[in-house]
Amino acid sequence: MEDSGSGHRQLHFVLLPWLGTSHTIPMIDIGRMLAERGVAVTVVMTPANAARLSPTISHIADSGLAIRFVTLPFPSAEAGLPEGCESFDSLPSFDMVPNLYYASKLLRHPLEVLLRDLTVAPSCIVSGMFYSWTPAVARELGVPCFIFHGFGAFALFCMHNLYCYKPHESVSSPTEPFAIPDLPFPFEITRQRLPIQFQLLPRFMEMCEEGREGELAMDGIIVNSFDELEPGYAARLAVASGKEVRPIGPVSLFCRGSSDMAARGQKPSVEASRCMQWLDSMKPRSVVYVSFGSLARFAPAQLMELGHGLLASRRPFIWVINGAESLSEEVEQWLQEKLEIKEVDSRCLLIRGWAPQVMILSHPAVGGFMTHSGWNSTLESASAGVPVASWPLFADQFINQKLIVDVLGIGVAVGVDTSVELKQAPEDGASVTRDEVAEAIERLMGGGEEGEERRRKAKELAEEARKAVAKCGSSYDNLTLLIESVAQKAKKN
Ligand code: UDP
Repeated sequence: MEDSGSGHRQLHFVLLPWLGTSHTIPMIDIGRMLAERGVAVTVVMTPANAARLSPTISHIADSGLAIRFVTLPFPSAEAGLPEGCESFDSLPSFDMVPNLYYASKLLRHPLEVLLRDLTVAPSCIVSGMFYSWTPAVARELGVPCFIFHGFGAFALFCMHNLYCYKPHESVSSPTEPFAIPDLPFPFEITRQRLPIQFQLLPRFMEMCEEGREGELAMDGIIVNSFDELEPGYAARLAVASGKEVRPIGPVSLFCRGSSDMAARGQKPSVEASRCMQWLDSMKPRSVVYVSFGSLARFAPAQLMELGHGLLASRRPFIWVINGAESLSEEVEQWLQEKLEIKEVDSRCLLIRGWAPQVMILSHPAVGGFMTHSGWNSTLESASAGVPVASWPLFADQFINQKLIVDVLGIGVAVGVDTSVELKQAPEDGASVTRDEVAEAIERLMGGGEEGEERRRKAKELAEEARKAVAKCGSSYDNLTLLIESVAQKAKKN
């Protein structure tokens, strides 16, 4: 084995992101962080996921970092999935999640073949969630396996307590509130607002149970977070789970400069320069950025209600509409008539499709983020010092909202109390009204002394985030410890 130049023998991390854009993006960032520390990295993807992230992949190739991207053929047909449908965000319907899970299990054999054929043997596997078989593959190779869920430490600790004490199993309905045990403050939630692992839905049972078995077999947990954002929760999780827990983020801060930021994720649907010019023309902290991540698709009624609320707020805004290719005629017409007209045009930038989010959030004109509180978005916002209006939809987002609004005090709740499907049905109504949207934006962007306090805290956290990833910061040191623990194990082999 050759020396990597950083005191370690040539370590080789193999990263296998779970099948979703919002899992792959931070995992690639983790690959960059490892490569910058002299570790060889292979990121294993599937063809359609690699194609969608081609801007990131070619940008990294140009940077000369030692990251290899390889693809495994995806068994769409065997799993009953449409051709090219290889991720959560490309599923035609949520009912197809079990098919995607089945396909993910079929990746085991091709991965084993790939790992045997690598010129530099792997020293560690970092596995996305729901790959229940990766610890067994790692064990056969005699290397450790870490899981990357894509969730924060607070959410993972709450989930750990739910697995242990099962309060969600003793309520009589999905909407009956109960407390999450073992937290330093009261936190009531309902089963319906929890990630699917706790919703007790028979169609997801196999995936959730096997996924949990896989988690328990992992050697450690890598978290995209930093200690100062979720004080003590990674440590509590480590004690409770008996595993090495390493918060090493915010990983998005490893995108340095505008070309890195613009190349992160999918190809933006708007020229980055146009977006920046528009933001440059706005006053500092005046713009609301509105986006709900890579998965959510609102029903037409909700989209229009949101649009009315944004107009009523009388603030400049950037509105990202995901799934623009399948917008109904009614919504398209409404957007053109109400937003893309002269009087409104100058204070509204509509992005149909993919936005360069990290770049937008880091612009000084952005003063607030209306978000679904997905964990990546939450961290990206905190890293930019931008307070949020939290509109949780599903998964860990209601738990994240608790952290953002009540624990950290860097956001306001829009007031949503029921989760929704990934893709709302066209006939679904609006659960948030235009008045609620406008009112939440007023609290977010104005909000008197409380608003000032939220802005101050958000700024402070952004500073902490930068320190965490800098040399001797908490995340920097956690990454060092992670690499060292893998190096120790590699030495023993
Ligand atoms: N994202 C982006 N542009 C978009 C939509 C999403 O760059 O138009 C990125 C965003 O920066 C984040 C990820 O996609 O890194 C979304 O992850 P999150 O956990 O917030 O939500 P999810 O997509 O899992 O619901």
